[in-house]
Amino acid sequence: MSNSLDRALRERAMKVVPGGMWGHMHAKDLPEGYPQYFARAEGTKLWDVDGNEYLDFMCSWGPIILGHHHPEVDAAAFAQYQRGDAMNGPAEAMVELAELMVELIPHADWAQFEKNGTDATTTAATIARAGTGRRKILVANGAYHGAVPWCSPSLIGVTAEDRAHILTYDYNDIESLRAAVAKADGDLAGIIVSAFKHDYGKDQQLPTVEFATAARAAADDADAALIVDDVRAGFRLSLGGSWERVGVQPDLAAWSKSIANGFPLAAVTGNDRFRAATQSIFTTGSFWCGAMSMAAAVATLSILRRDDAIAHMERMGTLLREGLASLSATYDIPIRQTGPVQMPLMLFDDDADARKGFAFCSAAIKAGVYFHPLHNMFLSAAHTPGDIARALEAAELGFRSVRALTPATA
Ligand code: PMP
Repeated sequence: MSNSLDRALRERAMKVVPGGMWGHMHAKDLPEGYPQYFARAEGTKLWDVDGNEYLDFMCSWGPIILGHHHPEVDAAAFAQYQRGDAMNGPAEAMVELAELMVELIPHADWAQFEKNGTDATTTAATIARAGTGRRKILVANGAYHGAVPWCSPSLIGVTAEDRAHILTYDYNDIESLRAAVAKADGDLAGIIVSAFKHDYGKDQQLPTVEFATAARAAADDADAALIVDDVRAGFRLSLGGSWERVGVQPDLAAWSKSIANGFPLAAVTGNDRFRAATQSIFTTGSFWCGAMSMAAAVATLSILRRDDAIAHMERMGTLLREGLASLSATYDIPIRQTGPVQMPLMLFDDDADARKGFAFCSAAIKAGVYFHPLHNMFLSAAHTPGDIARALEAAELGFRSVRALTPATA
């Protein structure tokens, strides 16, 4: 595997981009052998700048839900692009998309559009405050809702004042949620919950029905907003919103990632209770009316529904999960697989420093399969049983390389 072009780009970037790369996609945080730069992508495959091919299990960290370059999504997007993308206001596609989301998502009486997941979670919090006239937002410890001061996982460059009205609770812990509500002391604007607990490097947890019901009741008792952050999981678990599975409807939800199969778009949906508040706040962005992404989203959501894509992703995810479990048993290397099968996370037992996870992933990437050791992965509707079989062959090399770690380092 050559990586000379990747290395050369990293060196050039070090001079003109602080640190060479920002955020969680920095290859320095990934196991040995991972490329930083990619040249192209198609279906379930990715090619790095040196021409190495990978079977993709990160799907651009979520956005690619139908496979890279889905022909129907691309056709809809490029047809819109030919007509116009960045204009002086939205195209018809915005209304079509809002209508489609209102049709698909039970709590949604309206939708509005933005660009990034952080835009959507931040706007949802602002709407909750505007609609209630109160200030406190409850956030689960360790949950990720974006990269701006009110919610960034890093406190560098963040002031205490930025967090003055954020209170925390533990996901799936009703008592801690109630304690946080009590702490809000009559000033509660909203409770934000992730679709499920998908904190980096931790076992995933689906919400319990009891917790989801208690969160709904706590918001209702305080006349506050229940906000589901569906940025990461949205449209992979249910087209109507991830908390449909636990029978709870939020007041507001934040969406992004897979909504347009990789074209940049985010959305906030909400019920009529928050319509006037949404109309009253000021939000906008230079690219928020981009028509190409909205046309891509109409196509993406329509195809997901037409093809029953979630059921397909669940079947492929189950094959992967069963295959990994069987390899773990064969090699007698205990692992934990948690969360929904179409958003898999595999962690090794006794692996606090992630050395096993990194050894596993390094072996897999050398065999041309792109896994992640600590972040949940993503399946797409393009994955086939053949892809899963190939992934399991690479996983077998991964288990062998974990077995080969010396006991002192294992
Ligand atoms: N919420 C969740 C649950 C996310 O996973 C992410 C992105 N990983 C965000 C919000 C922020 O989205 P973005 O990076 O598009 O701003």
